[in-house]
Amino acid sequence: MLSVPHLNGEKKHKSIAVLTSGGDAPGMNAALRAVVRYAIAHGCDVYGVLKGYSGLLEGQIHPLTASSVANIIQRGGTILKTDRCEAFHKKSVRREAANILRRKGIEALVVIGGDGSFTGAYYLEKETGFPTIGVPGTIDNDIAGTDDTIGFDTAVNTAIDAIDRIRDTASSHDRIFLVEVMGRSSGFIAMNTGIGGGAETIIVPEGNETITSICKTIERGIRRGKTSSIIVVAEGPKPGLSNRVATGLQKRGYYPKVCILGHTQRGGQPTAHDRMLASALGASAVAYLLGGQSHAMVGVKKNEVVLVPFKNVIGVKKNLSKDVIGLAQVLAT
Ligand code: ADP
Repeated sequence: MLSVPHLNGEKKHKSIAVLTSGGDAPGMNAALRAVVRYAIAHGCDVYGVLKGYSGLLEGQIHPLTASSVANIIQRGGTILKTDRCEAFHKKSVRREAANILRRKGIEALVVIGGDGSFTGAYYLEKETGFPTIGVPGTIDNDIAGTDDTIGFDTAVNTAIDAIDRIRDTASSHDRIFLVEVMGRSSGFIAMNTGIGGGAETIIVPEGNETITSICKTIERGIRRGKTSSIIVVAEGPKPGLSNRVATGLQKRGYYPKVCILGHTQRGGQPTAHDRMLASALGASAVAYLLGGQSHAMVGVKKNEVVLVPFKNVIGVKKNLSKDVIGLAQVLAT
C-alpha cells in the first residue's frame, strides 16, 4: 500500500468539496470514499458536487457523511456522476464557480478526473485563488507526472480477459484477430493488454508498425507453425484504425476479424489494485490540501505518492518508453 503523507499542525481548511469530471473510470468511487472519510476523520466537512463542473455551476452541491460513501468501493462509474462542461472554458464562468463554492462556505476543491478536468482546476485557482487539487482518474493512464492512474489497471484486466476469450476462437478457427482497445492518443492500455495477453503484434501511436511489418510478423509466425494471431490496436486519435489495418491486411491476402472492445473497458468493478490506488490518492489529496498545498495533482512515482504542480501536468504528453515497446516485440517473437 502506498503511504499517505502525514498531516501535522493546523488544518488549512474546514470545508472542502469534491467532484468527478470528464470520462468515468473504475475506482473513482473508491477515491471519493477516501476523500470523504479522510477529510471527516480530520475534522473537515465535505460536500459532493454532482455532474462535474456543470453541476457546480448549477449549484448541485450536497453535504456528504461517512455513510454517504458506504458500499461504493466496489462499484464502477461514479456515484457523483460526471460531465463535460463546455462553459467552463470561459473565465467569467470559472469566476462564478468560485463564488458559488465560497457562498457555501467551501474553501477548497478536489477534482477527480483527467488532463482536461485538471486544466479547468488549474485556471480556476490561477484566476480566483480558490485552492484546487487533482486526483488522476482515467483508464488511459495518459497523465504526465504520474506512473499510474485510477481505472487503468481495471481497463487492462478487462481487455486481457476479452483477449483470452477471443484467442479461443482465433485458435479454433486459425484466424487473425485485430482487437481494438481504448487509450485515445496513447498506447498504455494497448501495450499492457498486448504484453499481458501475449499478443503477436501491438499497434500503438508511439510505435512504428506498418502493414508490411505486421505481415512479416504473421509470416514469421506461420513459418514457426502458428495458425492464429492476436493483434492489439490502440484506437488512436482518429476512429476506425483497426478497420483500416484490416483493409491493409486484406490487400496482402490476410482476412482478419475485427473486435472493438469500446466502452466495455470503461465500466465494471475496480480491481484490488485500483481500489488501493484510489484509496491512497484520495486520502493523500486531502492530506496535502489540509496541509496547505494546492494547484497540483497527487500521483505516483516509483511507488511513492507525489504532489505534482498542475503546470507540469496539463497539456504535457506522457509517452510509452521505447524500452517497453522493444520488450513487447522481443516477447512476441
Ligand atoms: P478528462 O478530464 O477526462 O481529460 P475532458 O478533456 O473532457 O476530460 O475535460 C473535462 C472537463 O474539464 C471539460 O468538459 C471542461 O469542463 C473542463 N476543461 C477541459 N479543458 C479545459 C480548459 N482548457 N479550460 C477550462 N476547462 C477545461
